[in-house]
Amino acid sequence: MAENTLNSVAFPVLTDEQVAQIGACAQVSGKHHTDGDVLVATGDRGIRFYIVKSGHVEIYDYSGDEPRLLANHGSGEFTGDISHLTGMPAIFTAVVRGDTDVLEVPQEALRHLLTQCPTLSDIILQAFIARRQLVRDSGQFVGLRVIGSRYSADTFRVRDFLSRNRVLFTWVDIETDPSVNAILKEFGVTEADTPVVACGHMVLLRNPSNQALAERIGIHQRLTQELYDLVVVGAGPAGLGAAVYGASEGLRTAVLEATAPGGQAGSSMRIENYLGFPTGLTGAELTDRAILQANKFGAHLSIPTPAKRVSFDNGYAVIDLENGEQITAKCMVIATGAQYRKLDAEGCERFEGTGVYYAATPAEALLCEGCPAIVVGGGNSAGQAAVFLAGHASKVIIVIRGDDLNRSMSSYLVHRISQTGNIELLTGTVIYRLHGNGHLQSIEVRNTRTKEVRRIDTPAVFSFIGAMPHTDWLPPQIERDEKGFIRTGAALKESPYWTSTRTPLLLETSCEGIFAAGDVRSGSSKRVAAAVGEGAMSVQLVHEYLRHK
Ligand SMILES: Cc1cc2nc3c(=O)[nH]c(=O)nc-3n(C[C@H](O)[C@H](O)[C@H](O)COP(=O)(O)OP(=O)(O)OC[C@H]3O[C@@H](n4cnc5c(N)ncnc54)[C@H](O)[C@@H]3O)c2cc1C
Repeated sequence: MAENTLNSVAFPVLTDEQVAQIGACAQVSGKHHTDGDVLVATGDRGIRFYIVKSGHVEIYDYSGDEPRLLANHGSGEFTGDISHLTGMPAIFTAVVRGDTDVLEVPQEALRHLLTQCPTLSDIILQAFIARRQLVRDSGQFVGLRVIGSRYSADTFRVRDFLSRNRVLFTWVDIETDPSVNAILKEFGVTEADTPVVACGHMVLLRNPSNQALAERIGIHQRLTQELYDLVVVGAGPAGLGAAVYGASEGLRTAVLEATAPGGQAGSSMRIENYLGFPTGLTGAELTDRAILQANKFGAHLSIPTPAKRVSFDNGYAVIDLENGEQITAKCMVIATGAQYRKLDAEGCERFEGTGVYYAATPAEALLCEGCPAIVVGGGNSAGQAAVFLAGHASKVIIVIRGDDLNRSMSSYLVHRISQTGNIELLTGTVIYRLHGNGHLQSIEVRNTRTKEVRRIDTPAVFSFIGAMPHTDWLPPQIERDEKGFIRTGAALKESPYWTSTRTPLLLETSCEGIFAAGDVRSGSSKRVAAAVGEGAMSVQLVHEYLRHK
């Protein structure tokens, strides 16, 4: 979207009729404020939504060295961004200028307004999305600061965790940033303390675990109820699909996500085969919209919250969480997806996070800027990664064991690869050894036919081979196929675990009332659209199950 169009979407002026409609649709209170009153402070949660009736409200970014004015809302304009709905801490501060009258809308009333008034909902939600995009695109928003080395696996983990959770941050690479000594001195830390996470002038944490980081920066949300109609495990496309349909159809719905919403699709730089998006969209865009949608309908998302175990009590599923808490579900949708297998090459483990990666996003691309990069695998995800990385690396070498990309990759991607000058394809080839001192420096590949060995200098190998399902946390009663994917519906005909006299529903597992959707399901088609569709369909089956229970 062009910048002035984006600006007009981000900062619309509501008409008097629209303001009156808000008053009629939601519980609002008129408030008078005077100069300097702070309506929202950076870091606040559960913030209220304000519509300016007269006077002004200024919006500031306090995360950099100096406060920066982002916007000045006058009559008919409103405060806020997506943190209203995601429950994340506010990234801005709203300060009243002069005598000002506002309409104040509590968080729950805003949610009610968004579901009851479609026209206003469009204007407000589009403004929230556009404001986030403007902040991201401005390149001036500092947000959190992560100080650490490009060669440190923990720095990579912290950056990866923040970017996958859509937290705005700036990375200070202690290997290349010329002002690094001054920055370390300013924060009173040494290189040994890194990665360090700081906010403004304050060090928040030194080398935190993902869990500790989520707690400290306020993105970890606890579930508030003990019994839900539906618990969805996994917030990839299938889980988010189930969450949107479940919550919008009146089920009390909770979603548990181990790391970050979006799943595998969240790391895709360009999804071109998802219906309705002819020019493609990034996995991050799809995820942002889906989270907003799930939140709008009142689904409770808890991240990072891995499900550790599931047991059964009186026909309900009891799910153990990592922090020792338990939640109970009348029905459960398992949407835990899959992840790529580790490379079977000597030295691989030493370089996880310091040269071996399982996604290719801007975070990883920075680490191979101007250098050769290696992509292993012949599926669509490998193809997309190669095309994306070709815009950053000096050269991309795709390594496949087979002899033809057409066997496993969509033809549009094969064509694009053949048209990209700096992509080389090595067929009949495997990586068998990785070398480096603290971080990856080179690899050795072997041709499986000629046995010829070649050494290639590279700082980054991207592996997209052999998806393995996330099912090791499940009890044996939830039947799986020989590769660990969950069997559902007709595939359970012979199952010793299915005890009911009725036939299992289409996506039902061998345990009644427990469904599986998306990549984790045996025989699924491993595509975004299919995962979203199965997530939606699972909710219809949940209704059917509950009706006959
Ligand atoms: C780089 C890349 C590009 C791709 N591009 C395309 C494309 O262009 N078009 C297309 O159609 N498909 C594409 N795919 C495939 C597509 O992304 C997947 O088919 C889709 O994401 C599957 O969705 P899912 O929800 O079933 O599982 P996933 O996306 O794998 O999500 C599962 C989620 O469950 C979470 N989880 C796992 N275990 C637990 C647990 N115990 N507790 C809580 N949470 C848990 C995970 O953290 C994850 O977030 C791509 C895949 C990749 C990797």
